[in-house]
Amino acid sequence: MLQQAALPVAEAQRRILARVPRLPAERIAIRDALGRVPAEPVISRLDLPPWDNSAMDGYAVRAADVRAGRRVPVALDLPAGSTAGQVLPAGAAARIMTGAPLPENADAIVPVETSAGPRGAGAYADPGEWVAFERVPAPGHHVRLRGEDVRRGDTVVAEGEPFTPARIALAASVGSAEVVVFRRPSVTIVSTGDELVGVERAGEPDRIVNANAYGLAVMVERAGGVVAATPTVSDDEAALGEALQTALGSDVTVTVGGVSMGARDPVRPALARAGIELDFWRVAIRPGGPTAFGVGPGGRPVFALPGNPVSALVTFELFVRPALLRMAGHRACFPRPIRARLAEAVDPTPGKATYLRCRLEPDGAGWWAVPAGHQGSSVLSTMARAHGLARVPDSGRLEPGAPVEVWPLSDEPFHREEP
Ligand code: AMP
Ligand code: MG
Repeated sequence: MLQQAALPVAEAQRRILARVPRLPAERIAIRDALGRVPAEPVISRLDLPPWDNSAMDGYAVRAADVRAGRRVPVALDLPAGSTAGQVLPAGAAARIMTGAPLPENADAIVPVETSAGPRGAGAYADPGEWVAFERVPAPGHHVRLRGEDVRRGDTVVAEGEPFTPARIALAASVGSAEVVVFRRPSVTIVSTGDELVGVERAGEPDRIVNANAYGLAVMVERAGGVVAATPTVSDDEAALGEALQTALGSDVTVTVGGVSMGARDPVRPALARAGIELDFWRVAIRPGGPTAFGVGPGGRPVFALPGNPVSALVTFELFVRPALLRMAGHRACFPRPIRARLAEAVDPTPGKATYLRCRLEPDGAGWWAVPAGHQGSSVLSTMARAHGLARVPDSGRLEPGAPVEVWPLSDEPFHREEP
């Protein structure tokens, strides 16, 4: 077989993003849009606020009519939700609540706290009664102007800006009951191995639980994808070929296991037979070197990940997750690394970037990256303890305190018990 030099991690990531397609758009209810990426800008149909309105509970007045301490009649009562276009008579005040439309001829709001009526200072007067104000307000005081937040025709959420709670609230405010977003990628995870069983058979002789079917499925979901199926097949090229035929109907196929140089490893021959053109099949990384990527019919991406559970989770995170994000329309598909200082000395692996499972411990100004324990590629407990992957390049021993970049895996370190 043709030998290929192992690709540097960033080069492999670039090649993947260069080849994965963005998925077509679909229209969904705004309520379902959290985390989805708009394929079209959300454009406002309305001015926000829709009319000039009060920013305070109190009285609407014409500033020029007010004299400090002078009694004026309360002519109108305007709760939130009252109709726009009511007219304030000259020399009068209108009782008004926050958000209510300003009556015509009014140009300022006096908060109730600085007024006095028949029931004393700060107590509301009823329509037909009188009110007096401590001070003369400046025109425009406590008035929210029509369109000061958003104008009709404004883009309120741009294409490519993922929906957050505030963007969903804003889109709803301007009348977007539905939005157009990129579709979520569907993913089939094909596990290979005669030894693999479901969790219900844990502890059976000669069998191990298909940990990857569980871990990778939730990683797909956390990355915004949809799990189409998680078949497990034996180490048999024909069985794998059959599973691949079905898997290739989903947007992304991920095989796991059977990709190294084992005598019975069926993945590469099965991929070739299924017409999948491999872009690369070795990455200069530890764990996870025997990772392959290619495209199948219709340009659909296919990943072949190594079976060791840590290798599978790490390579999914570094190579598959960015692809899923890009397909779903994200522009920023890689986490910004966290700068930390390494707590222990580490020797690099020659010719490879090592991704060290670490805990992140806060250190006043920054972070310590504390290796989480045994770094073997089958040792899942260290992966479970880790907050991130510290990148150790192939450029000499790192001493304690050396700066490292950490790829975050969890938001646990960014939360604390105290408020
Ligand atoms: P492979 O990549 O198939 O050579 O597998 C390497 C190691 O990972 C072997 O010890 C397998 O038993 C183990 N392994 C492979 N696939 C899985 C899986 N889906 N879940 C848990 N362990 C696996
Ligand atoms: Mg295997």
